[in-house]
Amino acid sequence: MGIFRTNEQGLKRVTLIPGDGIGPEVTAAARRLIDAAGVKLAWEERLAGAKVFKAGNPTGVPEETIESLRQTRVALKGPLETPVGYGEKSANVTLRKLFETYGNVRPVREVPGVKTPFSGRGVDLVVVRENVEDLYAGIEHLQTPGVAQCLKLMSKKGCEKVVRLAFEVAVSEGRSSVHCATKANIMKFTEGLMKRTFEEVAREYPGIKAHHLLVDNAAHQLVRAPEQFEVIVTSNMNGDILSDLTSGLIGGLGFAPGANLGADIAIFEAVHGTAPTIAGKDLANPTAEVLSAVMLLRHLDEHDAATRIENAVLATYEQGLFTCDVKPEGALGTKAFTDAIIQNLGKTPTAAKPARVVKPLRLPTVSTDRDFVKVKSRRLAGFDVFVESATDPESLGRAMDELCLSTPFKLKMISNRGTQVYPLTGTPTDCVDHWRCRFITRAETYQLKSEELWDLLSRIQKHFAWMHIEKLQEFDGATGWTRAQGEGETPGA
Ligand code: NAP
Repeated sequence: MGIFRTNEQGLKRVTLIPGDGIGPEVTAAARRLIDAAGVKLAWEERLAGAKVFKAGNPTGVPEETIESLRQTRVALKGPLETPVGYGEKSANVTLRKLFETYGNVRPVREVPGVKTPFSGRGVDLVVVRENVEDLYAGIEHLQTPGVAQCLKLMSKKGCEKVVRLAFEVAVSEGRSSVHCATKANIMKFTEGLMKRTFEEVAREYPGIKAHHLLVDNAAHQLVRAPEQFEVIVTSNMNGDILSDLTSGLIGGLGFAPGANLGADIAIFEAVHGTAPTIAGKDLANPTAEVLSAVMLLRHLDEHDAATRIENAVLATYEQGLFTCDVKPEGALGTKAFTDAIIQNLGKTPTAAKPARVVKPLRLPTVSTDRDFVKVKSRRLAGFDVFVESATDPESLGRAMDELCLSTPFKLKMISNRGTQVYPLTGTPTDCVDHWRCRFITRAETYQLKSEELWDLLSRIQKHFAWMHIEKLQEFDGATGWTRAQGEGETPGA
């Protein structure tokens, strides 16, 4: 059971954000079904999205909506549009970040009668996507006029929260395995952190088989044998892509529900967006939003109504009814399809089964310490300075070698877009005007002082435009940076 609040009449309070495009149509369908199932909720309808941007609020989320969510801690939300030219941040990301909904749970289950290349394979899996970190934190900079950077920040705490959530989803649904999909072979610190955290947390769940696989292979396996997966936990961007792929396995975005979960907040919404081409035409498939409402009801401890609505959805598909995303001939409109589900409340599907809930989802508790990972020792061993220059690698290398004479530093290497170009490697690298110059201490155990770093930087600054530095640090004796492509094995090599 999740956290929620009640009003003076004892009704559970839920913020309702109808959203943009098809949002009002599909949230109306979900609300009608909840009413028809006999669950009385205290809805608080609030705005977010296009109208708010257009009214001049660059966040897309007005204070009244934030305040309502602060109070209710639960929302049912339609998709939101980020209109081009009205502020650069997505209202969805604003909501996720403001309320730290760190986990995005996206189940997909085969829908009876909806023919796909995977029909009959028993696709029934949940993607648990990290929801606030990674490249989607949106920390981007143009470092030279022609070179852009996006920071991929991932924390041990963020990984631990989402990995625990994935195992708790598995426990709640009586699943026997969890897969973790990462790109740890390439990004050893960021994606590697997710992999290592997964391996640690998995030990606390001995009854559940834990498997790691690379995310590219996960995509491949998902279209070869999707039935092998039960729960997949992954980082933000990987999860965004994989979960759209998994909705494709069962017939498309119209069928994929979702929940954004935080420590004490939950926002339920379909995976799909505003589908502007079909908005306002009574063509949208409400299933994804209705199934999101089913997840909302389980969160509100309304298990009986949740199962009745889910059964009614499945029974409706078993009767051969569908909306036009399945096929245009014989399709029902959004309203008529919702009416059909309402008619089926109380019916049990003949073959299809509703989601299994063995026990209510227990949201993980993770320490609130800011310094989540503590170390006994740290050493400043050097720094990478990123400079803009139209020169060639050899001239730049010689100049940098000279600048660090009579300092505690030596120039370890220079790389261009991650590949070592100095000392010269003899292989052709197509260089741009953005260079990383790596300086490390001449003595391997020397503890650098910040003044020494600033001293060398001020020498560099007299000759080159630098735009960014990154300290090279060792934590408890372990190297906290990666080597460039082609760079020697050990930091001193
Ligand atoms: P989309 O709105 O999900 O639509 C992609 C296509 O999927 C639609 O054109 C439609 O296909 C089909 N579709 C999606 N939901 C459907 C439903 N319920 N019933 C029937 N068909 C459905 O993705 P998009 O076109 O990339 O994004 C449109 C806008 O939505 C953008 O502004 C984007 O930022 C926003 N968005 C918001 C959220 C969110 O709020 N959580 C999520 C994703 C995107 P046909 O064209 O073939 O009919």
